[in-house]
Amino acid sequence: MGTKGREIVGMEVGKLIELLNKALADEWLAYYQYWVGAKVVKGPMRGAVETELIEHAGEELAHAEMLTNRIIQLGGAPLLSPEDWYKMTNCGYDAPRDPSVKAILEQNIKGEQCAIGVYQELLKTLEGKDPITYHMVERILEDEVEHEEDLETIMEDIKSFK
Ligand code: FE
Ligand code: FE
Ligand code: MG
Repeated sequence: MGTKGREIVGMEVGKLIELLNKALADEWLAYYQYWVGAKVVKGPMRGAVETELIEHAGEELAHAEMLTNRIIQLGGAPLLSPEDWYKMTNCGYDAPRDPSVKAILEQNIKGEQCAIGVYQELLKTLEGKDPITYHMVERILEDEVEHEEDLETIMEDIKSFK
């Protein structure tokens, strides 16, 4: 990245890159959890749920892309091996072993709630230090808040059938 561009980052750049790589690990695991969840899901409103899960998978992948671009711009290296995803993740991975709509929604709601907490913390760390990364994280956090709401809304609809 440009010399001046790096200079304006008011925190240790190596530490920032590490935090972004941890978020990157989360995004890849979230991407796969949604993607494979959409394949195996069964139960009420399966079609609508599948569509939403696929959409969210795509959005998690877009977050991974944003994080990776910023890591590279900061002069860092994005995680290069999937085994690092497990080592670096904040939020972990929940395998959709129970393919019922309810179980999958619950797992992904939990994941979104974790992501919201992680990005909220990251914003606190970045405040007044790195406006570029701050702005990017704000945009990601907006999506995570929307994801949680989307899933909770479907869950309410499903519960209202019974
Ligand atoms: Fe995400
Ligand atoms: Fe999300
Ligand atoms: Mg959505």
